[in-house]
Amino acid sequence: MENSNPNQQRRLELEKYFDARGPFAYLRLVQMKRAWKQSNRRELTWWESTYIPSVVSGIWLTSKHFFHNLSLHILHVFGLFKDVPAAVTFQYPEKPRPLALRSRTRHRLTKREDGSPRCVACMMCETVCPARCIEITAAEHPDPNIEKYPAEFILDLGKCVYCGFCVEVCPEDAIRMDTGKLNIAEYSRENMIYDKKRLMEE
Ligand code: SF4
Ligand code: SF4
Repeated sequence: MENSNPNQQRRLELEKYFDARGPFAYLRLVQMKRAWKQSNRRELTWWESTYIPSVVSGIWLTSKHFFHNLSLHILHVFGLFKDVPAAVTFQYPEKPRPLALRSRTRHRLTKREDGSPRCVACMMCETVCPARCIEITAAEHPDPNIEKYPAEFILDLGKCVYCGFCVEVCPEDAIRMDTGKLNIAEYSRENMIYDKKRLMEE
């Protein structure tokens, strides 16, 4: 018997077209569902097609947030509702957004009291680094209590993925990612290669 329901008929046609059986049946079913949705998209009513309801609802939502935040900022000036945060726009780059305490930022090498690096050139950070961006040249330390020191410590920030493994693995707390600096953009890759002196400066 001929199916009189046009939607049902369309569905049967699509099922036949996509043949939702056999290999890759699932993919064909997904494709069928998408086509079904597209072919059954609801027509806009006359009132909806003027777009007035959508425009009014957009203006209402924007105004609601604007006046809510404006009122909170005014109340904060008078010392009221200080614990209720109001939306703030950070004027980046003049005023950078405050970083979370645990943020991983550009590396630095920590120093001993005499200004020498705490690093004992154990090579743990170089070994663990997944980006292979640390290169250490170890040398004998004149102090017999310290076995080695880094004659050179190269860190290529152009390759670093900021995973923090080097900091985690260091047994001497000699490398940290707490400078608060994230803006490491340079005009050349060479300038992104930091040596020991540069890593100890900041
Ligand atoms: S943060 Fe990760 S990728 Fe960067 S130097 Fe340390 S270990 Fe290597
Ligand atoms: S893990 Fe620490 S002590 Fe060892 S080489 Fe790296 S920075 Fe130096």
